[in-house]
Amino acid sequence: MKKQYKVGIIPGDGIGRDVIRAATTVLEAVNDVAEGFSLQFLRMEAGDSAVEKYGKPFPQETIDGIRQVNNVLFGAAGGPNAAEVIQGMRRTFELYANVRPIKALPGTKALQPNSDLIIVRENTEGLYRRVGYIDGDTYVNLRVFTRKGMERIIRFGFNLARREGRKKVTFTHKAILLTYTDRPMLELFYEIAKEFPDIRAEDMEYDNCAMRIVMKPGDLDVVLAENANGDILSDVGAGTIGGLGFVPGGNIGDTAAVFEPIHGTAPKYADKNIANPIAAILAAKMLVNHLGEKEMSARIEEVVRQLLTDGKIRTFDLGGTSSTSEVGEAVAQEIRKYGGKK
Ligand code: ATP
Repeated sequence: MKKQYKVGIIPGDGIGRDVIRAATTVLEAVNDVAEGFSLQFLRMEAGDSAVEKYGKPFPQETIDGIRQVNNVLFGAAGGPNAAEVIQGMRRTFELYANVRPIKALPGTKALQPNSDLIIVRENTEGLYRRVGYIDGDTYVNLRVFTRKGMERIIRFGFNLARREGRKKVTFTHKAILLTYTDRPMLELFYEIAKEFPDIRAEDMEYDNCAMRIVMKPGDLDVVLAENANGDILSDVGAGTIGGLGFVPGGNIGDTAAVFEPIHGTAPKYADKNIANPIAAILAAKMLVNHLGEKEMSARIEEVVRQLLTDGKIRTFDLGGTSSTSEVGEAVAQEIRKYGGKK
């Protein structure tokens, strides 16, 4: 009996539509060849198309749809829709962990071609909790941590390291100055680390970690950061491996997960079938991995790496002429050729 998974597909705005179409072609090929599981797709609206149909960028219909599927592939939301859609998903489903693999791809002029680390960022607390006030000439945003928030992201980091066969988790902080937030979280980190004796635990100030990501990424394995600093570290990491067109991310909670390319809507390229869909295809790969289908997930990545090495999938940003859909079809074709087994 095949396992059955439901997958939500939300293209969103701008090039989200182009790249999610290509990534869906890949998931359809996965579905055709997978021996042990099948995927059932549920298409949903967010962004402009949702405003047109339901009057809101992140309508109740989409929230109900996500509840049915739990796992979603999302493109992008731009302009005034962005905050409502992205924050709406994160808040409604408590997607507290933002996971960004920083792994360079061949043929992409990465600054660090051997980078292979995972950044885990807390997604709901810290400075982005939006707690603060203005009192006359004083402007305050508070960095709010909760015991629950700290514990769950630390455990998530260690569990992810274990699941992904990683050896070490590096907690980043500024405990020496941020004595009310980072210091207690650092203590908690080492306390929880005792539950994971198979994984090494270390800590590092986040400015030092930013430099390591750029200069010596081989020192790092899984990097754990609170929200605002993790936001910066994630983009520093993305910059070292070729930038926006290549980096996927996952927003993961206990009951739902949303995978997306980290780029935005790039409106000037929307609906032209020229955007690079590799980040979206790798987001689909992360989704398959999250479902527990590791072999198929590895296969998708392998196909992408091989096609890039052979120079067969080069969109304009890589100096080539491949269209978005050609890249999706090339990856899908290779997956169909070899099936789910290596
Ligand atoms: P938004 O307002 O939604 O963030 P944006 O255009 O300001 O849109 P991004 O979509 O993140 O921001 O992209 C910035 C630039 O990076 C784009 O204008 C484009 O040049 C490039 N870019 C981003 N994603 C891709 C892609 N998938 N393929 C090709 N180029 C891309």
